[in-house]
Amino acid sequence: MSTGNSQRPFWERDAGVCWHPYTQHGLQGSLLPIVGAEGAWLELADGRRILDAISSWWACLHGHGHPQLVGAIAKQAQQLDHVLFAGCTHAPAVELAEALAARAPGGLTRTFFSDDGSTAVEVALKACLQACAKRGEAARTRFLALEGGYHGDTFGAMAASDPEPFFRHFEELLFEVERIPIDSAALEQALCDRGDRYAALILEPIVQGAAGMRAVPPAFLQAARRLCDEQGVFLIADEVMTGFGRTGTLFACDQADIVPDALCLSKGLTAGMLPMAVTMFTEEIFASFHSTSRSDMFFHGHTFTANPIGCALALASLRVGEDEDTPGRLQRIGDRIKANLRSAFPAAETLDLRSFGGITAVNLPVADAGYFSDVGMRLKTACHDLAPDVLLRPLGNVLYAMPPACTTEAECDLIAERMQTVIEAVR
Ligand code: PMP
Repeated sequence: MSTGNSQRPFWERDAGVCWHPYTQHGLQGSLLPIVGAEGAWLELADGRRILDAISSWWACLHGHGHPQLVGAIAKQAQQLDHVLFAGCTHAPAVELAEALAARAPGGLTRTFFSDDGSTAVEVALKACLQACAKRGEAARTRFLALEGGYHGDTFGAMAASDPEPFFRHFEELLFEVERIPIDSAALEQALCDRGDRYAALILEPIVQGAAGMRAVPPAFLQAARRLCDEQGVFLIADEVMTGFGRTGTLFACDQADIVPDALCLSKGLTAGMLPMAVTMFTEEIFASFHSTSRSDMFFHGHTFTANPIGCALALASLRVGEDEDTPGRLQRIGDRIKANLRSAFPAAETLDLRSFGGITAVNLPVADAGYFSDVGMRLKTACHDLAPDVLLRPLGNVLYAMPPACTTEAECDLIAERMQTVIEAVR
């Protein structure tokens, strides 16, 4: 097929045909034309290299182009590319579900497959709601969530998320979700007042990502588990960002030693190489759908549910994670970047320097700290101009790094150095 445009390079043709995510095309400058990737590095069309310090939207886990993972994709594609997962099954799905059940917080035995973080959340919300009705508690039609929470861009996931800063335009159509601060007393109050109305509490354990790498401490998670148990409310852990070692343990829930009723996983599940997600459930939730009536089934399923290539890749990624101690590596990466920044800014309490495993973040002090704040734009510009060899993408006034586990000490030092330059230019 001729486009009539084939002489111009793809990055010039982009503006005529593509619509990019979370992008204001009226402001977007030139795009980075990426032609390859290896390890922690992205390769640009002109041959320059740029260090992927945000793991390509928090997904790239071990590094780009890991040979074992590329091999697993190729092998599975030759054997069985795809088949529907209703009425059929296949070894990669079963083996992955077994491997996940053996590693996830104890008791999460059932894996439901979907496509991305948002669909993993939709599955959790729908299943918890329907499970309440199944156990004769149809009045539990509401959800509880945390201020600053972000759970995805589909309607259910948007409703569960804090409408600020992204979702005000859609508010009219979003179902009501009560939002509480990250505070056990506030949670206790909400559950005491209306505990019998809630189907589930959804939260990002240990660290809220899109809110600006904000802590959700283990003590709060333990209180949440206890209070939800007392009130018969399901607890949904959204580990789409934190899963598979990002916070220094395989799952963030491990740090609080809690078992949620539903666990949402994506991004690192397939090491950031193919779109896939799972929602893991307790046997109790699965069993509540089990009957001989077709109308009792869980009405949910996507075309690419349990895609065999994605499953084979996820299995291989779990193995790589264990062979290479990915959680330990990420912990050391975060520790090093944080230590470098600490020595660069020894007296800078106002930066609120923090790290969670492999994630390191600082807040640029400003009067107006919103996502669309002036400092946010200046930060973005500074990253672009002053850190051309390190890909950083600030969240409002928050500058953070979350590189893949293959990042070397020298590469960590480079990331910290560029962050330092950007902070000094903007603050
Ligand atoms: N939950 C969390 C915690 C996330 O960070 C994200 C994405 N950044 C999502 C859900 C949505 O995932 P996706 O973009 O794959 O739909």
